[in-house]
Amino acid sequence: ALTAGIVGLPNVGKSTLFNAITKAGAESANYPFCTIDPNVGIVEVPDERLNKLTELVQPKKTVPTAFEFTDIAGIVKGASKGEGLGNKFLSHIRQVDAICHVVRCFADGNITHVSGKVDPIDDIETINLELILADLETVDKRIGRVEKLAKQKDKEALAEYEVLAKLKEALESDQPARSVEFTEEKLKLVKGLHLLTSKPILYVANVGEDEVADPSNNEYVQKVREYATNEGAEVIVVCAKIEEEIAELDEDEKAMFLSELGIQESGLDQLIKAAYSLLGLATYFTAGVQEVRAWTFRKGMKAPQCAGIIHSDFEKGFIRAETVSYDDLMAGGSMTAAKEAGKVRLEGKEYLVQDGDVMHFRFNV
Ligand code: GDP
Repeated sequence: ALTAGIVGLPNVGKSTLFNAITKAGAESANYPFCTIDPNVGIVEVPDERLNKLTELVQPKKTVPTAFEFTDIAGIVKGASKGEGLGNKFLSHIRQVDAICHVVRCFADGNITHVSGKVDPIDDIETINLELILADLETVDKRIGRVEKLAKQKDKEALAEYEVLAKLKEALESDQPARSVEFTEEKLKLVKGLHLLTSKPILYVANVGEDEVADPSNNEYVQKVREYATNEGAEVIVVCAKIEEEIAELDEDEKAMFLSELGIQESGLDQLIKAAYSLLGLATYFTAGVQEVRAWTFRKGMKAPQCAGIIHSDFEKGFIRAETVSYDDLMAGGSMTAAKEAGKVRLEGKEYLVQDGDVMHFRFNV
């Protein structure tokens, strides 16, 4: 499964946020295939559509889909030089598919800040610089390998050399690899390098308890937003402390607590959704009387692959997928009505599954 890594300087609220994630944790019996690792937190993906489908179908059981966060504690300045076990942390980042960068935006005098003052942009740049330096090392090593062949006009080596030179130029001017534009073809070469700054990123602005309902007056948040906008990245505002407190409450209690605080949706729920979509993930549903369930697929997957997420036999013996979009099903009011309105399609092997599709797979055993 794809996972998003939680990174940030010490004392910004990473552990508090990760605690909230593990406390909120998904019921593991439903997800036997998920990673069992103390550094991995598995959460349910909140999805209002699943509740609506449950009301419609009245199944015996409803199962949300899950998402994994990985806690990457302990990155410090100088990590790319191997300082403070730095290389170990960088190798942990290498293993995740996206980065959730937690930034301290709360001003609590009792809590020490590593560099002595709260300065989120400086914090962001400190970590980004370590990642950039690590990538520069990777790129330089690779240049060393292909340079000679490229000079001998080896076609493949030349193409790779061009990519590497472009990356090097960006990294040397403190720009992440993801900011460099490449053609589809060249992007494959970039992927092969497994660069840290190629990974999609979002910023998590951790604010104080009294600011989360309306963070507009928090100047730190504003600065993070400006920085992120320039990068084309998203910012999620959370108060990690509150998230930790509400993580164990049931749905009703949680809703009550949040409305008392004047918060529409918990920061953690927003973060889960944002990380999910940052990774290019989407959801399709199965809706039977036994079970209504949400399933995660990667955008661009075809019907047989999606069937294979449920069981490999579904993919092997795939015949067709009875498919209706969530909106059409809800508009019809029942599966029968949607069928009568001609909204239920029979899709074949080439069908690109869409977010919100409600599917019933037919397969040979
Ligand atoms: P980490 O080193 O990044 O994992 O940071 P921690 O999660 O251990 O948090 C560092 C300190 O900041 C702890 O004392 C937390 O209680 C405190 N803290 C974390 N989040 C918040 C927050 O949203 N508001 C306030 N006031 N304190 C927080």
